[in-house]
Amino acid sequence: METHAAPLRSSDGSIVQLGVTRDITARKQADEQLRKSAALMAKVEQLSLSGSFCWRPSSGGITCSDQLYRIYGIEPGARITMDIVTARVHPGDRHIVYNALEQAQAGKDLECDYRLLLPGGFIKYVRMQAHATYDSQGRLDYIGAVQDVTERRQSEEALDGLRAELAHVSRVNGLGALTASIAHEINQPLAGIMTNARIVLRLLGTDPPNVEGALETARRTIRDGHRASEVVTRLRAIFRKEVVMTDAVDLREAACEVIELLRTEIRRKQIVLQLKALGDLPAVTGDKVQLQQVVLNLLLNAVEAMQGVGDRPRRILVEIERDDGDLIRLAVTDSGAGFEPEHAARLFDAFYTTKREGMGIGLSVSRYIIERHGGRLWATSNKRFGATFSFSVPCGTGRVLDHARSGIGYQQAGAETEAAARN
Ligand code: ADP
Repeated sequence: METHAAPLRSSDGSIVQLGVTRDITARKQADEQLRKSAALMAKVEQLSLSGSFCWRPSSGGITCSDQLYRIYGIEPGARITMDIVTARVHPGDRHIVYNALEQAQAGKDLECDYRLLLPGGFIKYVRMQAHATYDSQGRLDYIGAVQDVTERRQSEEALDGLRAELAHVSRVNGLGALTASIAHEINQPLAGIMTNARIVLRLLGTDPPNVEGALETARRTIRDGHRASEVVTRLRAIFRKEVVMTDAVDLREAACEVIELLRTEIRRKQIVLQLKALGDLPAVTGDKVQLQQVVLNLLLNAVEAMQGVGDRPRRILVEIERDDGDLIRLAVTDSGAGFEPEHAARLFDAFYTTKREGMGIGLSVSRYIIERHGGRLWATSNKRFGATFSFSVPCGTGRVLDHARSGIGYQQAGAETEAAARN
């Protein structure tokens, strides 16, 4: 109830009425409803990292929710104008916002992504969407939302970086396994050099010596030498990216990042993947990207082994745990097709594959990487179905670093060949 009290007097001064009392239940309920929906809206905005706004282009008036003030890094309640809003946009992305404002002239719905450059050089990625509406007098209003998508963008960028790194490693390692064909390219000019050198000796050994012929042959020798060194230079370019064996690698985190890369693929193939990391896991010293390459190979194989499995759940279990001694073990168990025991010994051979599209390089490269880390990679058949591929690597430092030193063999081999070509 709401009571307004004020004496109402008659002409002789006597009080005829003291006040009015009204039933305001409906108004109170409406107020409460409004308060609740405003609180709900604020919570939703907070959870979705979004802020809302209303903009009337004809007057330039903008009203914003508190969350939008926060996203733009503006003092809540401050008067907002389009100039203030655009001043917060990263200079490199202002054209995107100006373009949206131009679209607004035509009353179109708006949607764009851009960066904010906040005081202190802090960058945020946002997505703006606004819907055009008209009031009863036909005036255009935009009702919209701005969502802070920084975290998503950053993790997408990190994933892109990881993908590129892994692609590089697989190229490097893949080529590492193809050394035979590269050696062939170098051997050809080397054979030419040897033959020519013998011919020069013969030409100079005659009486009188055939100097003209020897000079010509020597020129051919130099040409072959150049060819060999070109091959080495090309190799150098391919392996330019040096392997860093001194990262302190958190295997669990490294595996999580790889799983993240495959998440869509795993969901699409209706596979349930579970990661179990048991106990306190010390860091492994080595090359994070290379170890991730191994985890990626094992997971891809597990996914591929699941092809055609329809009579049982498709499951992959990734377990990471401390093994005896100073070792950490990572095992990938799948419920896939498994392998025949008699083939077990060949799985890790280069170019061994049972897949139509397979290259047979993944496991041999993975074993090579793990051995460089001073570890071991092996396969076992599961009791019922599927296979388990496991590796263990030491978590101490010295041993791994020693392996690293002896492991970077490509460039040394190249340098020796170059020296041989020069001599
Ligand atoms: P690719 O995958 O190109 O065949 P890999 O070296 O990665 O090359 O694997 C070699 C072979 O090992 C595969 O063709 C397959 O026969 C076997 N293999 C690998 N992983 C699994 C697995 N999880 N389950 C069953 N067999 C596997």
